[in-house]
Amino acid sequence: MDNITLSEVAGLGVGTLLLCATIAAPKIDSFISASQRSSLGMCKKCGDLRLIACSKCRGTGLVKAGGLLSFNFLDDMYQSLGGESKVKRIKCTECQATGRFCCPNCSKVPPVPS
Ligand SMILES: [Zn+2]
Ligand SMILES: [Zn+2]
Repeated sequence: MDNITLSEVAGLGVGTLLLCATIAAPKIDSFISASQRSSLGMCKKCGDLRLIACSKCRGTGLVKAGGLLSFNFLDDMYQSLGGESKVKRIKCTECQATGRFCCPNCSKVPPVPS
């Protein structure tokens, strides 16, 4: 281990940190953003985007028909491996298949009934 200098270790550490930061940036952003946004006078919920992602369909606008959690989980795994989903997808009724809602915090306009 003599050929690894302290600066190399430090460089490796910084590199790893940067890599982690890049990967985790969205998570960190959502983690720290609430307090940051409030200090910046931004909406805590949406960060002044005025939109929040639908939690039911995770912003895709589509949900799987059926609703068996274990089946959906396996299907997710299958899809992540590059397979084609066997589960029929239907439009999300929560968000009218838009995948997002108007932020209730800063949008005073009620959703237009369709
Ligand atoms: Zn939805
Ligand atoms: Zn908002």
